[in-house]
Amino acid sequence: MEIKKGIGVSPGVVICPAVVLDAEDLVVPKRHVPTEQLAPEFERLGHAIAQSVVDLTRLRDDVTGKHGKEIGGIFDFHLGILKDKSMLTQVTKEIKNQSTTAEYAFTVVMRRYATTFSAMQDRYLSERVKDVYDIERRVLRHLIGQQHQDLLHLTQDVVVIAHDLLPSQTAALDRNRVKGFATDAGGRTSHTAIVARAMGIPAVVGLGNLTQEVNGGDIVIIDGNAGVVIVNPDEEQLAEHRETEKRRVKMETQLATLVDLPAETLDGVVVSLQANIEFPAEIGDALARGALGIGLYRTEFLFLGSDVEPTEEDHFNAYSDALRRLSGRPLVIRTLDLGADKQTQHRQSNPERNPFLGDRSIRMCLHDIPMFKRQLRAIMRASVLGDVRIMFPMISTLMELRQAKMVLNDVMEELEDEGIPFRRDLPVGMMVEVPAAAIMATNFAKEVNFFSIGTNDLIQYTLAVDRTNEKVAGLFCPAHPSVLLLLRDIIRAGSRSGISVSVCGEMAGEPLYTLLLLGLGLNVFSMNGPDIPEVKKIIRSTTMEHAKTVARKVMSFDSERQVMHFLREEMRKIIPEAF
Ligand code: PEP
Ligand code: MG
Repeated sequence: MEIKKGIGVSPGVVICPAVVLDAEDLVVPKRHVPTEQLAPEFERLGHAIAQSVVDLTRLRDDVTGKHGKEIGGIFDFHLGILKDKSMLTQVTKEIKNQSTTAEYAFTVVMRRYATTFSAMQDRYLSERVKDVYDIERRVLRHLIGQQHQDLLHLTQDVVVIAHDLLPSQTAALDRNRVKGFATDAGGRTSHTAIVARAMGIPAVVGLGNLTQEVNGGDIVIIDGNAGVVIVNPDEEQLAEHRETEKRRVKMETQLATLVDLPAETLDGVVVSLQANIEFPAEIGDALARGALGIGLYRTEFLFLGSDVEPTEEDHFNAYSDALRRLSGRPLVIRTLDLGADKQTQHRQSNPERNPFLGDRSIRMCLHDIPMFKRQLRAIMRASVLGDVRIMFPMISTLMELRQAKMVLNDVMEELEDEGIPFRRDLPVGMMVEVPAAAIMATNFAKEVNFFSIGTNDLIQYTLAVDRTNEKVAGLFCPAHPSVLLLLRDIIRAGSRSGISVSVCGEMAGEPLYTLLLLGLGLNVFSMNGPDIPEVKKIIRSTTMEHAKTVARKVMSFDSERQVMHFLREEMRKIIPEAF
């Protein structure tokens, strides 16, 4: 059994056997063709393009009929390129000037298009590079005579696992048989994700090397809500996910009625429920679920969706986009948290032996000041466009925090010298996710404007349990009394210093812990958007007095089993329908 965490791009849970699509890399060697034999190459080219236009027109009409104009329209872009006279002129020239085959010339020109698109500042346009590869493959298949591997002859329900589904592959999926998909690569604004949402198929992308870990026929759970894929799940996980999906559908309908109501206890205490995002495009969904702002923007996903490092403008565009969507609501921008599980190993020539304990997060930023400054400049420039707050991740020493703040000050001075406006009083906070910082929370509280507790890492480092290793997944437990003691002390230190404290790790969105966190005095919860309604329901069903009693009792236990059992019973009392 293998558990993989990626980016959930389309909600729902599906359990099915897998079909694994090969990467299907078409290698086109450069072959010399004597000038007198070039005529057939032009003919072959014309024929392959004409055939591709026929295929695409049929596909577009078919998809438009099934899924509407917006999805079908993807193929108009493909058709536009194939019918573009300048494209044809470029390929013809390439054949002539290089004395080469139609397929080689076509590849050269398509790679040129791909480079142009991927260099575009606009993320939507730069994502179109995948469409260019899609067009290239289609024409090459006709030139090389390879048959298009489609999914038209499926006889049972499946989930599709692929390195990176091409837009046309996604749109052409047989909706009656393909029940979900998961890919190694991909981002939220890729066509693949757009199509998945439009089709209502659960999908998870950005899973790294999933295709190497799944064989055709393996049973796979795709959980588009949690962004998780489980390969060959055990009986317990199967039962759990079937149950989750049933409950989700029923509960979602009921909870939708709470969206405009405050997260207020029965005795009038109001807390703020905010959302975690990886991309600005998620903000609309988060607000629709009732989020009052973004409590954690994981900006490192700007890097993970692309092979090239984002420029200052890329950062700035992403932050201004997010602020536009938020219309004045708060946005906590966490500075880059790269390294460890955030897939940057391939950028490093020397993989680290212990990446979670290595050059990760703020450490990596302080080792690469130009990269760090690019991001800080963009954040400060965006600070005049809305309610921006900045947050440093993985702080473990006061010196580190002071250094990060010094770099931020340098950036402010530079901007001032350049006459670029920014907000000097923008709140500066830190994540408390390393036990060293948790233990010294009182000292740190004097030097920041807010804390946000990253329970995912805090649990991993406190319990010495790799959060990505399924072999020790059973030991990864938010209810461990040592973790709870740290949580209590961080919240206490924050409130004594008068700074706000939130939890932005997964624990904040787990209903089992809502009463406890509320009772410990937490006033900001930041979680995945889909978790907000259920947490709000719990808060609205209890009193602060009850939550405090629960927290006091929990802090007297010395085992996580006792804690979880007790919390389950208390939850059952206030919302029995959840059980
Ligand atoms: C955390 O560690 O709890 C957290 C929110 O950060 P991430 O999951 O991105 O490491
Ligand atoms: Mg973390």
